[in-house]
Amino acid sequence: MNVAEFRADLRRWLDTNDLSPGLDDSLDAQVAQLARVRRALYGAGWMRYGWPAGVRGLGGPAVLRAVLGEEVATRGLAEPGIYSMVEVLAPTMISYARPELAAEMVPRLLGGREQWCQGFSEPGSGSDLASLTTRAVPRDDGDWVVTGQKVWTSLAQYAARCVLLTRTAPGHAGITAFFVDMDTPGITVRPLRTMHGVDEFAEVFLDEVVVPGDRMLGRPGDGWQLAMDLLPHERSTCFWHRIAHLYTRLDHLLEQTPAPDSARDDDALGAAFLALHTVRCRSHATQRRLAEGGRLGPETSVDKILLATAEQQLFDTVRDLLPGVLELTETPWRSEYLYSRAATIYGGTAEIQRNIVARRLLDLGRE
Ligand SMILES: Cc1cc2nc3c(=O)[nH]c(=O)nc-3n(C[C@H](O)[C@H](O)[C@H](O)COP(=O)(O)OP(=O)(O)OC[C@H]3O[C@@H](n4cnc5c(N)ncnc54)[C@H](O)[C@@H]3O)c2cc1C
Repeated sequence: MNVAEFRADLRRWLDTNDLSPGLDDSLDAQVAQLARVRRALYGAGWMRYGWPAGVRGLGGPAVLRAVLGEEVATRGLAEPGIYSMVEVLAPTMISYARPELAAEMVPRLLGGREQWCQGFSEPGSGSDLASLTTRAVPRDDGDWVVTGQKVWTSLAQYAARCVLLTRTAPGHAGITAFFVDMDTPGITVRPLRTMHGVDEFAEVFLDEVVVPGDRMLGRPGDGWQLAMDLLPHERSTCFWHRIAHLYTRLDHLLEQTPAPDSARDDDALGAAFLALHTVRCRSHATQRRLAEGGRLGPETSVDKILLATAEQQLFDTVRDLLPGVLELTETPWRSEYLYSRAATIYGGTAEIQRNIVARRLLDLGRE
């Protein structure tokens, strides 16, 4: 199916199958709505396009997934941040899990039957991810015993499984990834509240958690490469629908601000539009590279820098054009403004992205 046909058919289907969310905008409701949307889209086949047959996908280019995400975001059917997890975790499973495990598990995620989480960051290891200390020790029977702590694990309290990085030996080559069932004895999840007032992420404590050997992703020591393959997705492909969402917010701002002949600051609006347009162009190029079979790498740090810049600029503009609204009223703009501050942190901070651009793209050497 070509992209234009896919989009037209999808639009027709969405027009006749109402998946609009209810009025409850709590995280519980958002997660439930996401599951509802995925279930419906998977059942009708839309959520299976762009994924390989090995995980019960219907094939076609990955760009079909981007088109689907764009339609979902533009219609406000699912919160774009939590919708992104599929784009980050499913490709990793396809590349690193045993084919039978990927075939069993990926449809559960795509089909809205399960939510998963990503257990990378630790209290002492964020930007310096390679210093992580959560230990995995092999047992004689082939299973592994994992002990340690993760932090900032998004949606861990809702997750059935976790893509978990552990240490099995010293150094980068001593990091090993597992796909862990979150209901395994020894796992405790403690939600943490963000400054926008939502328990979006959590601390995850692992106390002698037994993980079957066949849940290893790749081989012992492949964890660093897995992270290097996963993070470019977190820094690029999932942005296409986020950008679509940000355009809807810009349109909403235009509706709320007075007409052009009043005191509206059209320069600020124009700059916000330009920043969004810039990241959309970049994201388009990334989607095209992916469609041509390219492998995503450090160049996706440019996408991440542009996205974070555009998102923060947009909500700074909201704050400036609606004086007092963010500060003094109960408005969704406030939580969106506050959450936009996280854009320069999650998926790797703005400073780290600039270091990657300097060292790995511009070859400027170490600081
Ligand atoms: C909303 C949100 C959701 C998240 N979800 C997840 C998740 O699901 N799973 C997960 O594993 N993690 C998640 N994270 C964690 C995120 O990946 C880390 O916060 C991020 O990598 C930064 O690590 P840190 O918080 O330990 O900060 P640090 O690494 O301690 O950094 C602190 C400051 O120092 C700066 N800094 C550090 N090193 C350098 C350097 N070499 N050069 C210049 N500046 C430097 C950083 O830029 C930053 O400003 C999430 C974070 C947020 C905000």
